Amino acid sequence: MPTRSVRCPTCGAGLEGTQGQTLAVCRFCRTEVRLTLTPIDGMTRALEKKAEVESRMNALMERYAASLVTDVRRALLYYEAFTYLVLWTSHEVEDLAELEAMASPLMKEAARQLKTTYVAPVDRGETVTFASVDALLS
Ligand SMILES: [Zn+2]
Repeated sequence: MPTRSVRCPTCGAGLEGTQGQTLAVCRFCRTEVRLTLTPIDGMTRALEKKAEVESRMNALMERYAASLVTDVRRALLYYEAFTYLVLWTSHEVEDLAELEAMASPLMKEAARQLKTTYVAPVDRGETVTFASVDALLS
C-alpha cells in the first residue's frame, strides 16, 4: 500500500497517521488539516465504516423482513435506517442527516415498490441519527 507524505500547510512538519483519516491535527502547531482521501484510503475507510455498522445493518434487515408482512410502514422505517447506513459507509459526513438528499429518492423508489408512500424525515419533523437508528432497534 503506497504511503502518502502529507505536510502541515502552516509549519511544514510531516503529518503522521493520516492513512484513512479525513482530518489530521499537526502535532507541532495544532493546525487542523482536512485531507483528501485517495481511492485506496476511500476503500479502506468504507470497509472500516461497514465493519462499524454491520451488526446494526443485519439487525435492520431482520426487522425489515419480519415486519414487511404485518406493517409495511414500519418496515419502511427499518429500510430507511438501513439505507442511511449504507450511504454513510461511502460518504464522509458528520451526521447521518446530511445524507437525506441522497437517501430520499432511494426511499421513494423503495416505497413505490412496496406500494406505499414515503414521507422524508424533514417532512415528518424528524432527523435520522445514530441515536434514532439505535432507538428503532431497541
Ligand atoms: Zn504544523
